Amino acid sequence: MDLSAIMQEFRQEFPFFKSYPECIYLDSAATTHKPQCVIDTIAQAQAQSNANVHRSSYQLAADVTRQYEAIRSRLAHFINAPDSQNIFWAKGATEALNLIAYGLGELCLANHPLWQGNEIIILTSEHHANILPWQQLIQRVNQIRSAYSQNEHIKMLRVTPVSPDKNGDYQYDELYNAISDDTAIIAIAHVSNALGCIHPIENISAKAHQYNALCIVDGTQALAHLNVDVQALGCDAYVGSSHKMFGPTGVGFGYGTDVLLDALPPYQVGGEMIEHVSFTSSRFQSYPHKFEAGTPNIHGVLGLGAAINFVDKHLAYIQRTEENLFTYLLTQLSQIKQVRLLGQGNLHKISLCSMVFVHNGDSLSHYDVLRWLDEANIALRVGHHCAMPLMQHLEVDGTLRVSISAYNCVADIDMFIDVLKSAIDQLIGSHDILINDSLSLASQFNGLQGYENIFRQIMLSSKALPVLDASKHIDAYHVAGCEVDVWLMYTPHNNAFEAFANSKIIRGLLAILLEKANSLTAKERRIFDFSGYLTALGITHHLSQSRVNGLDRVIAKLSA
Ligand code: PMP
Repeated sequence: MDLSAIMQEFRQEFPFFKSYPECIYLDSAATTHKPQCVIDTIAQAQAQSNANVHRSSYQLAADVTRQYEAIRSRLAHFINAPDSQNIFWAKGATEALNLIAYGLGELCLANHPLWQGNEIIILTSEHHANILPWQQLIQRVNQIRSAYSQNEHIKMLRVTPVSPDKNGDYQYDELYNAISDDTAIIAIAHVSNALGCIHPIENISAKAHQYNALCIVDGTQALAHLNVDVQALGCDAYVGSSHKMFGPTGVGFGYGTDVLLDALPPYQVGGEMIEHVSFTSSRFQSYPHKFEAGTPNIHGVLGLGAAINFVDKHLAYIQRTEENLFTYLLTQLSQIKQVRLLGQGNLHKISLCSMVFVHNGDSLSHYDVLRWLDEANIALRVGHHCAMPLMQHLEVDGTLRVSISAYNCVADIDMFIDVLKSAIDQLIGSHDILINDSLSLASQFNGLQGYENIFRQIMLSSKALPVLDASKHIDAYHVAGCEVDVWLMYTPHNNAFEAFANSKIIRGLLAILLEKANSLTAKERRIFDFSGYLTALGITHHLSQSRVNGLDRVIAKLSA
């Protein structure tokens, strides 16, 4: 069979592409599609073998419990954990990280020997799911320490971020040098969801252990792409989400060493995690069951089992295909001079890249680019990718991220590149066309048909925006709740608004609104129907709901 037939056969395992053939899906880092075997496993479990686990001893319940526990062993084998008891189930990576961080906070407060030091090291590029649980831990411990301590010199916990350079590339020596006797924990992704780089976890956990620190790894973006061997990585904990590895949503897992899982207290309490309960005291089961209060996501676990078998069977193919497609994508992107890739210096990457767009030193908004991609049914993500500290560090307001899986094909990439080039050309092209400033912006929408013409006119209108100076892009003038950052300032003495947004489309929409607002008195503005005005110009129905919601926030300020 030739390569394209093999690729076609693999793609056919995913019914999504039959139901939605026109979709070009380049957002597998957000969630992967599900192969038929996963869908069938869940449907069969719901239809044919529905019973609760670990409760009843009749045959059906015992069978389901056996299948469910067998998947714990299957997962342990898949990531080379020493035993199935080193795996606990959770709703996803987020819950597993919260569980671990909460428990470690308790160990810190109890002066448990596993907790040594006062610092948590986190990479700047971590997903919020691997930042916020640690931030909460630090706040909780510090609050308790300061409330109960008489000692003014009590040490407070702190977070130490380690950042990549301004291109998004890590120099790992900086991380190794940051680790010291005062480091309690290093919380790090195996693979960054915003940059795609694979971090050298083996070296990082070895260094952490030299200083008695724990290395907690967020493996969410690794499991569908890499052979994961938690013992070779040497980490103390490793978490993942089923839906990013071809499995269902609502289930994930945490791996921990025996020492760690034994020491961690339960995160939630309730049914099934106990040995004995009375009103005076209760005794909990050992790990992993002490972390699994209540009825678990049984069908999710069974579906995850099918997904693990699927990945295991196809991993070599997945890796080879993704590498070929990704190399092709990078070659194509390298020919578009406005594309600036971030985090490409790292040689070890999965098939994911993040980019921003720059033309003659000015940035082109990825939200504007997205409009064309979305129109062409290309599904991918723009924004901060739940990694706001990274975006702040790189001084960008987000990126456009392409993430590829082995069910993609060369035609997907060709289509993406074609639409991207055309979007960039149109965004740049509208720079050079002069607007007709003898006519009002609103009147230039008269008789315009079709979204291409309307959008072109919106972009041209952006040139007429009374621009708010960059020095005034501050919180006081920031309009919260818009898709992109918008600043709007009113000066009473000349009854005029000025505004700015990084997106050219939004600047155009602001120009149209401000042209009207600045022609009205304050009293007239309060009763004027700005939303109806945009609708009457034929604009509103071409806008996404999130754009309309954002504009409503602007309109609320204009009418205040
Ligand atoms: N970590 C990383 C690196 C991720 O990419 C994500 C999901 N985007 C998460 C954690 C959180 O995963 P979930 O939402 O499935 O809990």
